Amino acid sequence: MSSLILIVDDDILILNAVKRLLRRDKRFTILTFNSANDALEKLKTLSPAVILSDMRMPEINGLTFLSKAKEICPDSIRIILSGYADTSLIIDSINLGEIWRYLLKPWDDSNLIQTISNARDLYESRRREEAAQEKIIQLNRRLQNIISSVYDGVLITDSDGFCIITNKAFKNIYPAEIISHPVEDFFTAMHSDKSFEEIISSGKARGTISEIHVDISVGRYDESIHNNAFLVLVIRNITREHEVEQLKSDFVASVSHELRTPLSSIIGFSKMMLRNDSLPVEEQHEFLSIILQEAERLSSLVENVLNLSTIESGVISYSFKPILLRNVIDNTVSTLLSSLKESNIFIDVESTADSTIPGDFHALMQVFVNLLSNAIKFTPAKGNIQIKLHETAETISVSISDTGMGIPENELTHIFDRFYRVKGRNVKGTGIGLHLVQEIIKAHHGEIEVKSTLGEGSIFTISFPVSNRITEIHDISDSHLL
Ligand code: ADP
Repeated sequence: MSSLILIVDDDILILNAVKRLLRRDKRFTILTFNSANDALEKLKTLSPAVILSDMRMPEINGLTFLSKAKEICPDSIRIILSGYADTSLIIDSINLGEIWRYLLKPWDDSNLIQTISNARDLYESRRREEAAQEKIIQLNRRLQNIISSVYDGVLITDSDGFCIITNKAFKNIYPAEIISHPVEDFFTAMHSDKSFEEIISSGKARGTISEIHVDISVGRYDESIHNNAFLVLVIRNITREHEVEQLKSDFVASVSHELRTPLSSIIGFSKMMLRNDSLPVEEQHEFLSIILQEAERLSSLVENVLNLSTIESGVISYSFKPILLRNVIDNTVSTLLSSLKESNIFIDVESTADSTIPGDFHALMQVFVNLLSNAIKFTPAKGNIQIKLHETAETISVSISDTGMGIPENELTHIFDRFYRVKGRNVKGTGIGLHLVQEIIKAHHGEIEVKSTLGEGSIFTISFPVSNRITEIHDISDSHLL
C-alpha cells in the first residue's frame, strides 16, 4: 500500500531533489508544494501520512506551517528540514509535540529515506491500531446489544468474581446495584437449597429472589493459564411456570377428589340397593336419582377434562350451524333442574332475542352448563339466578347474574386462567370450567366479561355476533320456580 508524503519547500531545486530520492520507494506517493499556503489549502482535502517541510520559507516559517497543518490533519507525522541555526527552536517544537523529527541540511540521503520511512510506518501502524480499536468498540457494542436483547437475565463476572456485565432482564429480576460487586452478593440475596460453592461446581440451581422463582445456569470461561474463570450466569424467571406447576398439581388433586366423591356415592347407593331387596319404591327412586345426579356430575367433569385436552392439543373441531341461544339455555336449565331444586335456587329466564348465531350446539351447551353450574355452586339456598338474552343489530348478549358470594376484585382477571380457583373457598371444583367457557366463546368470535361484588353476586355477560334473523317468534319471558 502506498502512503502519501507531502513535501513543502520554496526552493524548487531542493523540492525536486527530495522528490527524486523518495520516488524510488514504491511505498511512497509524493506530492510537492513550493508554497506553504497552497499546501495548507490542499491539506483540507487530503490526509497525508507524512508532511515534510522546509524551515525558512517566505510566506510563513516551517514550524508555523506544521503547527497549522497539525490543526487540519492531526494524524499526519510532521518533519522539519532545516539548517543548524534553527535547532533550539526546533527542539522546543519537538518537545511541544508540534513536530516528530527534524532533518538537517544538507541531508544524508539514506538518513532522509529512513526517517520518512519510519514516519510512514508509524502513521500506518497508528492507523491500524485505531482501526483495530474501532473494531473492538464495535464488537463490544454488538456484544452488549446481543446480551441486552437476551430474554433471560445475564450476569458476567471477571476472573476475580466481580460482576462486570448485566442485562435488562437481569435487572428486572435483581434491581440492586451489582456491577463491581462480588457475585456472592447475588447468591446471598437468593434463597436456594444449594450453597454458592455447590452452585458454581454443579453449574445449576433453582431458587427465589424476592418472590421471583429463578432457574440459574452457570457457565465458566477459563482464562488460559489462570485458575480463575469468568462466570457467565443465565437467570431465567420461571415464576409463571412455577405457578402453572402448582396449579396443575392442585388440579390433579382436585380432579381426583372430584372423581372420588361422586364415585363413592354411586358405589354406596348401588350397594345399598343390591343388598336390600325389599326397599320401598320411593327410596329406590330417591337412591336412583342420587346415582343419576352423581353420574351426571362425573360425566360433566370428564367432559370438561377431555375438552380441555382437545383444546390444548389444538385438534378441536366445531360444527357450526345457525343456533337459537334460547334453545341452548332451555336445554341447560333442564339438565340442571335437579341441582337447582336441591339447592333451592330460583331461576328466571328472560329473552328479547330471536336471531341465530353461527355456533356449535354441543360446545355452547357446555358454556352455559359451566356458567350456570358455577352460579348454582356459589349461590346460597334461596338465592336467585337471572338469565337475560338481549339483541342489537349486530350482537346477541346473554347475561347470567346470581346473588351468590361474588368474586374478589383482584382475582377477577385470573378466573379464566386454566386451573385457577379463587383461594380460600371450601367449594369443589377443578378450575377449568371458566377457561373452557372462554376458549369456546373465542372460537365463536364472542366475548365474555364479568362484574362481581363480594357478598352480593356476580354477572357474567357473553356477546356473540348475530348471523341472521329468523321468523319464528318465541316467548318473550319465562320463569320457573324450582
Ligand atoms: P371451578 O371448577 O373452581 O368452579 P371455574 O373455572 O369454573 O372453576 O371457576 C374459577 C373460579 O371462579 C372458581 O373457583 C370460583 O371461585 C370463581 N367463580 C366462578 N363463577 C363464580 C360465581 N358465579 N360466583 C362466585 N365465584 C365464581
